[in-house]
Parts: sequence; structure tokens; C-alpha cells
Amino acid sequence: MFTDESGRLGNVPSVEMLRKTMKEPNCCAGGTPAFGKITVKSLMDQIGATVRGRLAEANLSPSENESRKFILKEFARTGKPPAEQTIVEAMKLPSIESVRRFIERLHKADILTVEGGEIVSAYPFSAKKSRHKVMFPDGHEIYSLCATDALGIHFMLGENITVRSRCPECEGEMKIEVKDGKIASHAPEGVVEFVSSGDHCGCTAKTFCPFMNFFCSKDHLEKWREKNPASAAGEMYQLQQVLEHSKNIFGDFLK
Ligand SMILES: [Zn+2]
Repeated sequence: MFTDESGRLGNVPSVEMLRKTMKEPNCCAGGTPAFGKITVKSLMDQIGATVRGRLAEANLSPSENESRKFILKEFARTGKPPAEQTIVEAMKLPSIESVRRFIERLHKADILTVEGGEIVSAYPFSAKKSRHKVMFPDGHEIYSLCATDALGIHFMLGENITVRSRCPECEGEMKIEVKDGKIASHAPEGVVEFVSSGDHCGCTAKTFCPFMNFFCSKDHLEKWREKNPASAAGEMYQLQQVLEHSKNIFGDFLK
């Protein structure tokens, strides 16, 4: 049985419904298109478009956008999200309640995530430990949600960074230095990124990021894929490609 556009049940779907379904093979609850199995653009291009699209869809006022940027800058500066009171004072907002409403709005737009009233991530940063630690020249550190985000922090903040990430196959550490828009050094030599294209749907921060990791070699990636068949489909990128994707996604994020 199928339900048609007007909610009636029938034995066959209408032509209009079939057309709609075929155009939108994997539509999410929030109406944001998911990443279908048939890939025309690269997965990273799709993710970039999703991230930019979500920001555009949120349709923030100029002052709201300033508050969003304040949250990100504070997160970057301190390694953790700012307290509600800090946002009230810095952005001259009328009350804690107005900050809470604003944070909830950003949460619904998938610009940040909240648990128990606390900000736990604001794309690209994570308040919780992740596989990807980003270190700044002054020595302070922050966790990023995924591998691409880690490099993107360089373009977002205009600061040189060192990324330390752990390979999901061997838990070995990889180190990538990004300076002046370039990969200044990386170890081990064979580091690659893998973006799994499994059935991801909905929030990028929650659902996609755990599937976007650096591996210390192509060999370790292949071993990991054999052990994780559910996440084995996807695309592998060289570091230079990751750098370019991260620039496309985060270059304008604070502008
Ligand atoms: Zn490894």
C-alpha cells in the first residue's frame, strides 16, 4: 500500500510520487537531501554544499550571524564553547533566555549540537574528545568533528595549525602541519582520508563526521574496510584534495 499526496491509501504509487521519490532518493526528516548511493559529485563536494546550504537556510540576521561567529571564535580561542552568560554580555543580548532560544535555533539548523542544554559541538569544533586534535602555535588545542574540519580550521581562522589524528585501523598517530594555506609536513608519508558513503542522513555533525577519517596508509584503510563492511563504501582522498575541500567549506565560514 502507498499513501498518495493527499494522504489516500492505494495499491500503486502515483506517477507524481514516483517521480518525486526518484528525484529525492534519500530525503531526510529535515528535508535536506541526503547523500545517495549514486554519486555524481564527489562526496566531499556534496558535504561542502550541505554545510553551506544549512547556513544559508538558517537565514540568520546580521546580528545573529555575529553571535554565531562569536561562539565559533570563543570556541577556537578557549577550546570549549562559551557559557551562555558570556554570549549575553559579549553580544549585548537581552537575557539568558534569548541566548537559549538562539542556540536552539542553531541546533535545529545543524550549525551546532546541544546535549542537556550545553553546546557540545559547533561545526567544525567538538567539545568532546574526537580522533582529531588541532594544535595552535600558542600551544592550546581543540578537537574537530572530522578529518576535513581539522584542516578547515586553518582556513577559517587564518592560523597555522598542527593536526594530530589517530588511524581507525591501528590507532597510530598521524601528524599534519598546515601553514600558509599549504601542507607543510605530514607523517607518516602515506596518510589518506576516507569518507564513508553509507546511509548517512540528517545532521552532518552527528552522522557524517564519524565516517570521515584520516588513515595512516592506503593499506590500513583497506584493512579497516574489510573489517567494517557497513562503512566500506566511500571515497578516498589524498591530503592535497582534503586541503582544497576544507578551504572550500571553511574559507568563508567566519566572513
Ligand atoms: Zn594505521
